Amino acid sequence: MSFVTIVYSMIAAACLTLAAVHLPVWWRNRDAPASLAFSIAALCTAAIAGCELTMLTTQSTAVYGAAQRWSNVPIVVLLVALAAFSYHYLAAGRRWLAITGVGLRLVSLVINFSAGQSLNYRQIDELKSLRFMGEQVSFAVGVLNPWQAIGQLGVFMLMLYFADASITAWRRGRRAAAFFVGGALTFFMFASVTRAFLVYWQGVQSPSMVSLFSLGVVLVMGYALSADLLQAKRLVVELGEREHEANLAADAAELGIWTRDVSRDVIRASGKWRDLFGFPPDEKIDLEALLQRIHVDDRGDFRDRLAQAARDRAEYHAEFRLALPDGRMRWIAAMGRVDVDAKGRTMRTRGACIDITARRSAEQEMLRLRQDIAHVGGVSVMGQLASTLAHEINQPLGAILRNAEAAALFMQDPAPDLHEISAIFEDIRKDDQRAGEVIDRMRALLRRQEVTKSPLHVAQVLGDVRQLLRPDATARQVALELAVSADLPTVHGDRVQIQQVLLNLIINAMDALEGLADRPRSIAVSARPEGAASVEISVADSGRGLEADQLDRVFDPFFTTKAAGIGMGLSISRSIVETHGGRLWAESNLGQGATFRFTLPVAQDALA
Ligand code: ADP
Repeated sequence: MSFVTIVYSMIAAACLTLAAVHLPVWWRNRDAPASLAFSIAALCTAAIAGCELTMLTTQSTAVYGAAQRWSNVPIVVLLVALAAFSYHYLAAGRRWLAITGVGLRLVSLVINFSAGQSLNYRQIDELKSLRFMGEQVSFAVGVLNPWQAIGQLGVFMLMLYFADASITAWRRGRRAAAFFVGGALTFFMFASVTRAFLVYWQGVQSPSMVSLFSLGVVLVMGYALSADLLQAKRLVVELGEREHEANLAADAAELGIWTRDVSRDVIRASGKWRDLFGFPPDEKIDLEALLQRIHVDDRGDFRDRLAQAARDRAEYHAEFRLALPDGRMRWIAAMGRVDVDAKGRTMRTRGACIDITARRSAEQEMLRLRQDIAHVGGVSVMGQLASTLAHEINQPLGAILRNAEAAALFMQDPAPDLHEISAIFEDIRKDDQRAGEVIDRMRALLRRQEVTKSPLHVAQVLGDVRQLLRPDATARQVALELAVSADLPTVHGDRVQIQQVLLNLIINAMDALEGLADRPRSIAVSARPEGAASVEISVADSGRGLEADQLDRVFDPFFTTKAAGIGMGLSISRSIVETHGGRLWAESNLGQGATFRFTLPVAQDALA
């Protein structure tokens, strides 16, 4: 076998091998178009080597012409692949240069198949013998095709494109890539144009050797890609270590971490997360499996929060219950982020979760205690009030009874002394008045509780109350909605007392919803300015509502319809609101339920 055959065959074999290595890389990672461009360039170089070997070794002008004509196909594809490689790898250079270069080369391909024996020769007259690599090889002599200048101009434009891309990449600091890859591409184009000029226009005799130059470029490109692969591998190792450290920190903080690849719907999760959500270590998890773990009442809310975070490109925060396969329930606090691509499509969802069951049960316990205390407090208030009432009212009631008995006696007289009787009735009226005053004094006593008024932000007070009531509302499956006007001025009042009023109104509203399943279980609390000098706060529910005659009576002390009710809440609330210079009243909703409204005066500073 001749040396030339060995060299050209080796070029082809080397290039095929390189293509075979890099094509699968691209196949498994379609985001790497440079690997595809490189593989195509290598395949084309192998094809060019095959054509050139035929040209060098044939004795027939027809075979030479055909091989040269067909070699132009892989040459054009090679140039497109090189331009694409440079475009993706160097990410620089003026595109119009590349497009013009490739365009001219494509035009020359049409000429290649439509005029003469090939792009280079209209007609090959004879094959001359030439010494190359110590052997005799064929070289064509004939009538040149002047249109080949178009193809050569195309290569020249590509040379400019590669030079431009190299300079820009160099300036951007990618010196090695610019020097080796950009330099090799530019040099290859320069050598091709120069050789074509010398051989076809200056009559220099040279065998066809495009594949030799091209091999050089392919090797440089291959080296650059392999260096990138090695770098990527190093990064993967580093990343693995970082991930290990992050997992360690997360485990120490008892945090479970999960990431969902949206396109494949696969969730990757740390061991702690699997423990929390009750998934075995090797079970495959998708979004549906995750959602199924969440308690059915909390699932919709969590889904909404994820969707909201994707829309707003913001973080999500959620607290929800897990219904574990073994029947246990676990409270989870979760936060995370939804990553979107440039077009706004969700790519990944990530999250960190922590078990808050202990905290939640402590909160529940606190709530229970608070309720107990409130109840005990209420009972003792009632007891005190009852005994004071009994004591203070006993006297006028006794007097009324005695007077009534005396009047009855007088009436038995056939000629009763009407003056005496009317005096007795006057006494009865006075005693009755006294009894009324006792009750008024008691209410005044309630009003006289010490208050410390200061400017208050209603939104803040409402927020605090919601915070206090959240566990209660969740447990009773009631949605608490807050709506506060943006332009709300500060009010003047005692924070604790206003909170007491709100707590009382909202707990009453929850009680009114108790046991009703045929309607949305929601309570809307809103605050808006009422005129310039006051703010109106309302608590509206869709509960069992109030009869027309109850609208006022509910504010009477001891009016209650509840089995364990005391009936002092609204009465005390009204006293508090009135002490603040406001009003508290009840309305029946047009549809279902009742609305309690109260006003509070705007703080003087806010009025100024
Ligand atoms: P208690 O809650 O101890 O009964 P309150 O003075 O707070 O005392 O309430 C008095 C009564 O007013 C309640 O028993 C109930 O019948 C009625 N009530 C209060 N709020 C509402 C409401 N939102 N819807 C229907 N009835 C209500």
